[in-house]
Amino acid sequence: MIDNFRAMDDLRKFLRTHLGVPCPECQRLLPRAHPKILLPQGWCKMHRYRDPRPESVIDDFYSEHQGKLARGQA
Ligand SMILES: [Zn+2]
Repeated sequence: MIDNFRAMDDLRKFLRTHLGVPCPECQRLLPRAHPKILLPQGWCKMHRYRDPRPESVIDDFYSEHQGKLARGQA
């Protein structure tokens, strides 16, 4: 269903804005650097930290906002 979305980049940006959280280890160890932004089940390679939220959070969020995204109102 993601295939017919106008641009994957927009979708990624949208998810990142709404669901992305900074890696807590990045914040703790590198407070001055830009922390890695993690989506559910996202992976910070530097700290071997995986976001604990299930990937279904993305699906739920996507289905909820699908209409808006399709109309370009995201
Ligand atoms: Zn990190």
